[in-house]
Amino acid sequence: MDSIGPIGLPHREGVPGCSQEGLPYPSNSSELVLECLQQFKVTETQLQQIQASLLDSMEQALGGQASPASAVRMLPTYVGSIPHGTEQGDFVVLELGATGASLRVLWVTLMGTGGHRMEPRSQEFVIPPEVMLGPGQQLFDFAAHCLSEFLDALPVGKQGLQLGFSFSFPCHQTGLDRSTLISWTKGFRCSGVEGHDVVHLLRDAIKRHGAYNIDVVAVVNDTVGTMMGCEPGVGPCEVGLVVDTGTNACYMEEARHVAVLDEDRGRVCVSVEWGSFGDDGVLGPMLTIFDHALDRESLNPGAQRFEKMIGGLYLGELVRLVLVHLAQRGVLFGGCTSPALLSRGSILLEHVAEMEDPWAGAARVHALLQDLGLNVGASDVELVQYVCAAVFTRAARLCAAALAAVLSRLQHSREQQILQIAVATGGRVFEQHPSFLSILQETVMLLTPECDVSFIPSVDGGGRGVAMVTAVAARLAAHRHLLEETLAPFQLNHEQLAAVQAQMREAMVKGLRGEASSLRMLPTYVRATPDGSERGDFLALDLGGTNFRVLLVRVTAEGVKITNQIYSIPENVAQGSGQQGILLNWTKGFSASDCEGQDIVCLLREAIGRRQAVELNVVAIVNDTVGTMMSCGYEDPRCEVGLIVGTGTNACYMEELRNVAAVAGDSGQMCINMEWGAFGDDGSLGLLRTCFDASVDQASINPGKQSFEKMISGMYLGEIVRHILLHLTSLGVLFRGQQTQRLQTRDIFKTKFLSEIESDSLALRQVRAILEDLGLSLTSDDALMVLEVCQAVSQRAAQLCGAGVAAVVEKIRENRGLEELTVSIGVDGTLYKLHPHFSSLVAATVRELAPRCVVTFLQSEDGSGKGAALVTAVACRLAQMARV
Ligand code: ADP
Repeated sequence: MDSIGPIGLPHREGVPGCSQEGLPYPSNSSELVLECLQQFKVTETQLQQIQASLLDSMEQALGGQASPASAVRMLPTYVGSIPHGTEQGDFVVLELGATGASLRVLWVTLMGTGGHRMEPRSQEFVIPPEVMLGPGQQLFDFAAHCLSEFLDALPVGKQGLQLGFSFSFPCHQTGLDRSTLISWTKGFRCSGVEGHDVVHLLRDAIKRHGAYNIDVVAVVNDTVGTMMGCEPGVGPCEVGLVVDTGTNACYMEEARHVAVLDEDRGRVCVSVEWGSFGDDGVLGPMLTIFDHALDRESLNPGAQRFEKMIGGLYLGELVRLVLVHLAQRGVLFGGCTSPALLSRGSILLEHVAEMEDPWAGAARVHALLQDLGLNVGASDVELVQYVCAAVFTRAARLCAAALAAVLSRLQHSREQQILQIAVATGGRVFEQHPSFLSILQETVMLLTPECDVSFIPSVDGGGRGVAMVTAVAARLAAHRHLLEETLAPFQLNHEQLAAVQAQMREAMVKGLRGEASSLRMLPTYVRATPDGSERGDFLALDLGGTNFRVLLVRVTAEGVKITNQIYSIPENVAQGSGQQGILLNWTKGFSASDCEGQDIVCLLREAIGRRQAVELNVVAIVNDTVGTMMSCGYEDPRCEVGLIVGTGTNACYMEELRNVAAVAGDSGQMCINMEWGAFGDDGSLGLLRTCFDASVDQASINPGKQSFEKMISGMYLGEIVRHILLHLTSLGVLFRGQQTQRLQTRDIFKTKFLSEIESDSLALRQVRAILEDLGLSLTSDDALMVLEVCQAVSQRAAQLCGAGVAAVVEKIRENRGLEELTVSIGVDGTLYKLHPHFSSLVAATVRELAPRCVVTFLQSEDGSGKGAALVTAVACRLAQMARV
């Protein structure tokens, strides 16, 4: 019976009787047969049209613009990551809707990375027709009953069991364990389930049944299970394709492309729900009279038109309708039908698969047809095989066009030239009919030559994948708990922040009085902020960490213009007894200015003389903070506070002279350099400090010092994050528990990474790139957790900074006995300026803690240079006024 060979393999080139479009036709058949089989022919152009049109509807549905008669649904599944491979434990899986009129229960043991694969135990229960079409509660009670019956036979106790629910119908999911049925398909039509949460219904039924303590952790459909259960191939397995009773696919889409999710990070598995493709009429010209007849007689006429050309529930029926047609026209069975052939559902998927199987043998086909009470003639066997092949080939080619649309979508959204990807396949059509896959594969290659696709058959019919999703959900929940526990100390509530504000206030008062305090509250001898009338040319020196700049600052009626020159500081100057050099430079700087500032030089000398003991960097910081206030003050006379949040942090503000014990005089004001980085060095921040702060402090060059600064400024935030990441890795929450050498390196995690990671505009891919640069290979869950760590650390920093600012502005308000204070703050520092949320969090905290102050934040430009010049300019103005 060699002649059967080519039928099952209709694509072999050069096989006689094989049309160009891959559709076999018998060489010796009548016009009628040819005409009939011709209808099942789908040309390459038509396949390309389907591919394009499906891709178009997918993109519309993703964008949320699908019309009501939408072609496909694109439902997000809340499965956000493919498995780690570390998943382990025992899981119960309940499958409904994956395999026709039956329900399957599985016991799946996942072994993690080390273990071998264990075959799941499973049991299949046939769902009686009256249950498939009866009240919903009855169906779920039946499911609960099957679960108990299955578990009774296993050596499991009544301990809590974790269940994954595989529910393969179109659903609106709103969480991993919340899913509302949109409409029944595949021959189910129970009342009272559409529009309801199926997890809820199952939980209720399990509770009613009462036999086992089962937690329904996750609900997925069979495509997701198929994808998740798959071992990765050449590329990652990010597509699931199922052809069983019905057909559907899912794939990993960028979350930001899924309009309904309102989520711009990570990926999410989207169920295409392509069974309903064509319900809006686009398949029109491709539908045969048999498709129309089948649709009319189905449970859901007009719906799932694409599925009805591909799904296993319908293939047998299509074949039956063709056979009836040909028999009634005298081409088959001597022109006779039989009652069996005329009744719906008498030819099933397995019959078609068997009859079309090239190795089945004519005798078997003969027997099957005879079982239907047919009068089988000599040529009938071959003709029937052709009919089966035609129906099957069309199904596989249509399915390939749909898959090609998904692949094009992936390639487009990943912006890859060549997409390397594995597709997990599952369902009885693949299992029972090997040529379905080969036709599919060949057609996909034809339609998407730019994709390198490997097809991987699913194991355990997707049950393992459902267990995987359940395990991932359970793991994520456990990890989330650990993450939240770790970050909780960083989340400061209103009371805690108000306490910081109050402590700061107390330390300020003590410092001003000259009492023991962690705030030194240094007088700066700057007695006024600019009023805008300052004029002249000034030279200023700006000392940074590695450079110093000489600036020529021109203050004119038109504004401030700066010319500068940068010099690097020789090491012997920077590290020797360099302070004197600086004083000289300062002095020189000021004496070179052509203003009559002799007394200012003196004042500065005096001021600097008082601070002989102060280290070099403090001198520079003083100038930063005051300079920032002064430079902003030139534009806005209400600017009476200066704030720096860069490598370090500090603040200054205009205090009433009467409150400054160190300086004589009772009237007027003076700018006080708070040196607030040291706030808390007396232990007052103890309760807020976490073990991560302690580690950062321990490893720093000045342990026990600059407590406030170490929780706020750029020099430390990256380090705090790094210590948290190390801790979470040691708990196995991050990076699959794998410590890397690089992450153990001090200062490897830059504070600028926080800005980049927290920036809204960056996709997770870029976050990933930053971390992968550090040698960390991470999943999208990892990336999201790293983001949360960064957010917690920078939020605490901004809030503490805000609490400090609130203490300052409230003090100014009370000093002046005002009901309400309107004040501006000049701010400088790269962390403040470049972090995407820092500045707004500071402002929000100040609003919350100092509601009676109306605070405007001004970012200074070139604060140190311009500010230093303005300090001089103001002093000149004051001196001149004094002489007049
Ligand atoms: P400095 O405070 O040393 O005078 P900056 O105000 O420029 O100078 O601050 C530099 C510090 O800012 C760096 O040490 C770094 O910690 C931090 N930083 C640099 N780039 C960024 C960024 N993009 N986002 C947040 N912080 C940053």
